[in-house]
Amino acid sequence: MMTRYNLFRCFALVFLTGAVCIANLTAADSKRKVLYFSLSAGYEHSTVVSKDGKPSVSDNAITEVCKTAGIEVVCTKDGSVFDKDLSQYDAFLFQTSGDLSKGAKGHPDWALTATGWKNLVNAVRSGKGFVGFHPSTDSNRTGGDIYQSTPPDKITDYTRFIGAEFTVHGEHQEGTVNVIEPTPFPWFQKSGKSYRIFEEWYVHKNYNSDLHVFAVLDTAGMKGKMYNRPPVPIVWGRKEGSGRVLYSSFGHYDKYWQDKDNIQLVVQLIQAACGDLKTDLTPNIQTAAPEANVLLTKEDNVKIPYRVVDFTTLAGVPCPCGTSRRGLIDEKNFPGTIHRTDVDQTAKAHYHKTLTEVYYVISCEPGSVMQIDGKDIPLHADMAFYIPPGTVHCLVGKAKTFITVLPKFDPTDEYFPDKK
Ligand SMILES: [Zn+2]
Repeated sequence: MMTRYNLFRCFALVFLTGAVCIANLTAADSKRKVLYFSLSAGYEHSTVVSKDGKPSVSDNAITEVCKTAGIEVVCTKDGSVFDKDLSQYDAFLFQTSGDLSKGAKGHPDWALTATGWKNLVNAVRSGKGFVGFHPSTDSNRTGGDIYQSTPPDKITDYTRFIGAEFTVHGEHQEGTVNVIEPTPFPWFQKSGKSYRIFEEWYVHKNYNSDLHVFAVLDTAGMKGKMYNRPPVPIVWGRKEGSGRVLYSSFGHYDKYWQDKDNIQLVVQLIQAACGDLKTDLTPNIQTAAPEANVLLTKEDNVKIPYRVVDFTTLAGVPCPCGTSRRGLIDEKNFPGTIHRTDVDQTAKAHYHKTLTEVYYVISCEPGSVMQIDGKDIPLHADMAFYIPPGTVHCLVGKAKTFITVLPKFDPTDEYFPDKK
């Protein structure tokens, strides 16, 4: 509601500047209305179970906490609501699961239709808000291997919209939440920069590059292969047109929603979605969680298979000093490459900025030398040379060599010293 003073101020502003006065309103002035959608087309969490048409645990919790913030909540599991006029709502809250276009078991009529989805996206793009809770990233997924990112052109519009796709959770356990600072949420300011709680910890894949991450799960020391990965974003936001999309992965348990303290983060996310809590959504995922899309850093009990490299079957590639046959180029578990190089002409003195090389001389013609940093070193079989980056080197003569290159060979990393 607008106070008389604000009404006056508003008219005065419009009169003086022609500005639209809505921007001058504060949360207390304007009554907000949000739509809470909790259709379970897949797994149904106890938090959204509605018995005999009675409100669910989360229906009650969200309605109650929003009331204190001047936000009216309409709760539904019927996705056909999105086929209708959405202009009365300031934000849309999702606590959904599964393929929403199928509706719920026994209620195909509750489906979120293609038209409904388009209406929702358009409403958000025009400036409204969206908040996804816990299982909402488990909706309209691409699925597939949980340790493989999806090709960008296959990622669903829904995943793009919400920001990432749920893959799996492990055994429920305590986990460490690291808050990315500065945080706009008073709840996080109270919790401290790092805190531990017991949850069902989701991991996701296909994180958008446009996310602003508010909190990550520190996976170090957690039980379960799915947590063998760098810190995982668990609360984030992004811009969708002029609107705001937020997501929080907390809330598996009824008690999360019934906790008077936890629920404060829920209402703050809703206020941020409505634009009433000022929230910077500039993408920061590259610095806050640069390895969010690294899905597995070490395999559990998986032995790396050995490889045989038969140089006699590899095609020779012309190189500045002769012919090179390069092995292990396609072996992701080996950090370099190995080359069998026949030097049959004078190589050009060169150096590498990144590559380190170890030359091993298998055989050579008499008189061949290795020039290193201007010094001639006579060659004979069974010698090796360690050539760190920045070392100018050149094999002069005829020789069969074996070269180990670390990291993997890169033909662009070849530089020639300035001639004086
Ligand atoms: Zn859960």
